[in-house]
Amino acid sequence: MTPDTPSPRNTPPPAAGRSLVPASAGTSNNATSIAKAATPAGAAISGGARTGTGTGVHVGKVKITTLLRNGRYQLTDPTRGGLSVIDFGNRDDREEWPGKRFTDSDNVWGDGTVRSRQSAAVDAYFAAGKAWDYYKSTFGRKGMRGNGKGPSAIVHYGKGLAGAEHDNDLWFGDGKDDKNPLTALDIVAHEFTHGVTFSTVGFAGTSESNGLNEATCDIFGTMVEFHANLAADTPDYLIGEKVNLRGDGNPMRYMGRPSKDGKSPDYWKPGIDRLDDAHHAAGVANHFFYLLAEGSGKKVINGMAYDSPTYDGSRVTGIGREKAARIWYKALTTQFTSTTHYKNARAGTLKAAAALYGKTSAEYKTVQEAWTAVNVK
Ligand SMILES: [Zn+2]
Repeated sequence: MTPDTPSPRNTPPPAAGRSLVPASAGTSNNATSIAKAATPAGAAISGGARTGTGTGVHVGKVKITTLLRNGRYQLTDPTRGGLSVIDFGNRDDREEWPGKRFTDSDNVWGDGTVRSRQSAAVDAYFAAGKAWDYYKSTFGRKGMRGNGKGPSAIVHYGKGLAGAEHDNDLWFGDGKDDKNPLTALDIVAHEFTHGVTFSTVGFAGTSESNGLNEATCDIFGTMVEFHANLAADTPDYLIGEKVNLRGDGNPMRYMGRPSKDGKSPDYWKPGIDRLDDAHHAAGVANHFFYLLAEGSGKKVINGMAYDSPTYDGSRVTGIGREKAARIWYKALTTQFTSTTHYKNARAGTLKAAAALYGKTSAEYKTVQEAWTAVNVK
C-alpha cells in the first residue's frame, strides 16, 4: 500500500486502503497477478519441495525451501503457500511487465554480493518465509492475508530505488546506485505486515491511524528479526539498520528513542496527525512497544545499548517482547479499526491485555504505564 519511500515515478501515495496498482483479491490484473502466475497453484506444487542453500546480501548463508520443476529449481516455496520471488530487472513498468522468475540448476543461490542478482532474492525469500513462520507459530495465522497463500516478493524493482512497498505483493528496490537492496529482514517483514494489517484492520483515515499502521509493521518487523535470530543480522530495535538508506550509515528508525532519527517524536503531542510522513507518527507507538517490552532507561540487548526515556520521568519495567507482541496482535485483530488513533490504541491494547492476562495483572498495569510514558492518556 503506502510506499515506504517515494516511488520512482513520484506517484503520490495512494488513498489509504487502495493500492498503487489497483488489484483486489480475486481480480485478475497486470503485473502483480501475472507475477503470481509464476507460482503453480495448489496441488500442482505439492511434492516438488527441495532444500537449497542461499547467500543473501543481508541474511548471510541460509537454508531455503525451493521447488524442483522440469529439471530446474525455482524460488517457490510449496511449504509456505507458494511464496515466491520475481526478478523485476530494474524496470518500473509494473503495469506492463510481469517480471521474470528466478530459476537455477544447482539449487545454490546467490553469493552474498549484489553482483549476483540472486543474492537480494535470497534475502527477500528467506525473510518473507521467516515472517510467514513467525505469524504461524506465534498466532496461528495462515500467511500474510490469513488465506494460506504466499505473496510474491518482487526484487530489483526500479533503478537505484531506495524504497520498498506492499501492494498485494511485496516490492523492493535496490537502493542507492543499486548497491543496497531494501531486502533486509526487518524491512521485508515490515512490508509483509502491511499485508497483514491490510487484510485485518485496513488502517485509513487520519495520519494517526496511518502512524499506527507503520508502527505495527515496525513492531512485527522487529519481532520477525528476533524470531529469525541471525548471526548476520543481530536482532535489535532498530529499523533498516542493514540497508544504509540515507547513505549515512544510520538506521531508518529507532524504537527505543524514536527522536534519534531527527524527525520522529518520542511522545504524543497535538498535531502529530499533521506530520507529513506516517513513519514519523509511528514513533509514539514504536516507543510504547519498546517500553512495554523492555522498559525504560539504560539496557543492553544482544550487545546493543539502549536508553529509552519517558515523558514524565516515570520508570517502566518491561514485560518482555513476546507478551508485548501478543497484546499488540490481539488489539490489532480484535480491537483496532481503520480509524483507530492513539487514544483508541491505548484503550484497545488495555482490553487486549485484560483478555490475555487479566485486569489486575502486571501486564495490564504495564500497558497503562507505557502509554502514559509516551504521553497517551
Ligand atoms: Zn510501511
